Amino acid sequence: MEELTLIPKQQAETLLPRPSRDTTPRDRRYYVWTVGCQMNVSDSDRLESALQGVGYAPADKADDASFIVLNSCSVRESAEARIIGKLGELQRVKRNNPDTKIVLWGCMVGPNNQSIFKEKLPVVDHFVSPSAVDEVLSLAPNPVYQLEEPALPMANWEHPPVSVHVPIQYGCNMSCAFCVIPLRRGREQSRPLAEVVEEVRRIVARGAKEITLLGQIVDSWGHDLPGRPDLADLLRGVHDMPGLVRLRFLTSHPAWMTDKLIATMNELPRCQPEINLPVQSGHDAMLKRMRRGYTVQRYRDLIERIRGTMPDISLTTDIIVGHPGETQACFEGTRELMQEIRFDKVHIAAFSARPGTRAADMEQDAELAISEETKHARRIELERIQEHIVTESSAQWLDKTVEVLVEGESRGRWRGRSPWNKLVFFDDRDDWTGRLALVHVTSTSPWSLQGHVIGEGTTH
Ligand code: SF4
Repeated sequence: MEELTLIPKQQAETLLPRPSRDTTPRDRRYYVWTVGCQMNVSDSDRLESALQGVGYAPADKADDASFIVLNSCSVRESAEARIIGKLGELQRVKRNNPDTKIVLWGCMVGPNNQSIFKEKLPVVDHFVSPSAVDEVLSLAPNPVYQLEEPALPMANWEHPPVSVHVPIQYGCNMSCAFCVIPLRRGREQSRPLAEVVEEVRRIVARGAKEITLLGQIVDSWGHDLPGRPDLADLLRGVHDMPGLVRLRFLTSHPAWMTDKLIATMNELPRCQPEINLPVQSGHDAMLKRMRRGYTVQRYRDLIERIRGTMPDISLTTDIIVGHPGETQACFEGTRELMQEIRFDKVHIAAFSARPGTRAADMEQDAELAISEETKHARRIELERIQEHIVTESSAQWLDKTVEVLVEGESRGRWRGRSPWNKLVFFDDRDDWTGRLALVHVTSTSPWSLQGHVIGEGTTH
């Protein structure tokens, strides 16, 4: 085997010529296809960066790649179905080019299902557990270089993204009845504070302006580390990084959100006023059945404390309708809570049974299972209510000025986000990428604001 050149990470990130899309041969082209959450997107970004660091170039389509990675999600049956469909398409690619290596990566791959998959999915050469970037990288057959350390999650070196997600914790110790993640991603594992701070420093030094710290229960970060630091400590640790403009974190769990964290968010000016706090249901019987670890009143009290400290906070949530055992009264509890809190964004999902979970067993009980028709009707009802709420809350921005961190262009217009994470579009001749723009809002829709630029924002 050809000897590899060992290159230090800094050199790989800044000095190496980018493998060219046009001239790199097929045996050093990769194709990464990602389904699922921000954690998967972040893992895939990191993998792409690492692959480019060892001499691979991206391919626009699977046919042009010798190394194909599908980063999978199993939170819902439909996500798994998309992956299975894609693997079906890849059979043709493999027939035409038998040397193609196909890796199935991510949440579909658990410790107990690999042997079943091996039989069912012969087109796959390797199965790799979620987030194991180094393991996927080691399977790439034709590296030119070898990285001394894992690469950063920034695939495009010439134009680093404005906003980067940084995983700070893997796995989850909770056991929500409906959720397959603990079975696939394992126990919680926090990355050490110094490691995260160093990674953020390197990413920001390369030009990123906004960092989102990612974890399945991000507000529980640190409880498994020596000295038990917490997320508030980590926010302080990265907050003053030169060049950093905005700091966010995702996804919180109501049982872990502390007054210290709320106070720290309020105190740190680069911390953006947004919290994602999945409630899942607005009825105690359902929360108990779902094993969420809090009551509706406790959730309400928490929201009150957050709004008491940060009155303009943007609150987003996740809700599941049609979970086994959800009576009409339970559903109405959820609807009322949604109307009472008026979230800025709600991700509403109809329950989908995941094999191996407690809720999948409950779904087998005819007395608990909810018909697909009812699930659908409940989802539509909540979506309509939410659309009405966000239409009203967006309209409040009309004729006001928002500070927008511009991420790039979209169909000839500049696209960015307000501190509350609302999408904002505007036209201007200047290049606004990575800059803060003050935008006067001239029209609103439920999901975005539009306006014109009136000046440059200020960094804190
Ligand atoms: S907190 Fe519950 S829903 Fe969230 S990842 Fe853990 S088990 Fe899943």
